[in-house]
Amino acid sequence: MNLIVNLCLLALPCIRLFANASPAKSEWIELSYPFSSETIYWPTGKSFNHTTEYANYTADGYYFSSYRISASEHGGTHLDSPIHFNKGGWSTDQIPLDRLIGHAIKIDVSSKAAQNPDYQLMPSDLEAWEESHGNIPYDAIILVFNGWGKYWPDKRTYLGTDTKNTSLLHFPGIHPSTCRWLINNRKIKLVGIDTASIDHGQSTQFESHRILYAENIPGLENVAHMDKLPAKGFTVYAAPMFIVGGSGGPCRIFAHFDANRCMVNLVDGLKSLNGFLWAALVLYALRFLFSRVLVRG
Ligand SMILES: [Zn+2]
Repeated sequence: MNLIVNLCLLALPCIRLFANASPAKSEWIELSYPFSSETIYWPTGKSFNHTTEYANYTADGYYFSSYRISASEHGGTHLDSPIHFNKGGWSTDQIPLDRLIGHAIKIDVSSKAAQNPDYQLMPSDLEAWEESHGNIPYDAIILVFNGWGKYWPDKRTYLGTDTKNTSLLHFPGIHPSTCRWLINNRKIKLVGIDTASIDHGQSTQFESHRILYAENIPGLENVAHMDKLPAKGFTVYAAPMFIVGGSGGPCRIFAHFDANRCMVNLVDGLKSLNGFLWAALVLYALRFLFSRVLVRG
């Protein structure tokens, strides 16, 4: 009886560990919004326009459709090429493919952004992430999650305004000091955010754009469905439209969970076990061992 009680108590922390380690429901996660007349563009930009050239049966009896598209580069889920804020930086066609694909992490500041729509990701947020998950991996893609996707595609809540007045923009971004911290302390290849801009809505100098793009680190804006991503253990693929000389462009972004994600989560689970559970685990492991030794003795 005593043995059963001990085993049950030992199982409690283990249940939490394996709950953390449960595999993802789907291996692939869509991180883009589809392009349509609803797609949000920068207030001064030109929205997505999709018009019919032909959509009908031909005289020969087969069906044929073809449409025409036009839009500004910076709208919807899109890439910012370094040349967007750096005259000598890479244009869209010049960014090497390996800069657009790689292992990624998600930094969740959604609780802070929920309190403050002008929130900017701070170096302390990166340090807090590293305390829980270890150092940001070498050559990582950084995704910043503010929980802003819940407002898409409503411009008033997502941008702070549905007018062309950019002084009314309110949404979270990345603080310039955080970009400097990343460049000085870690090696990263790409930064993405679930708002309309790397810089927060109230920015007028776009410092974070300028700091990152000076280092040829491109940006991803209006990244979708980040709520479905874990803190780490996934690979991001960003496939922008291949525009010669482009300052950015529409981008299909998706993620794939890494094969070893279970192991990564198990290790994270171990790290995140709180003091009480650790104490219970150690105490009952000791009690169990002593009771076996005493029985044998
Ligand atoms: Zn942009």
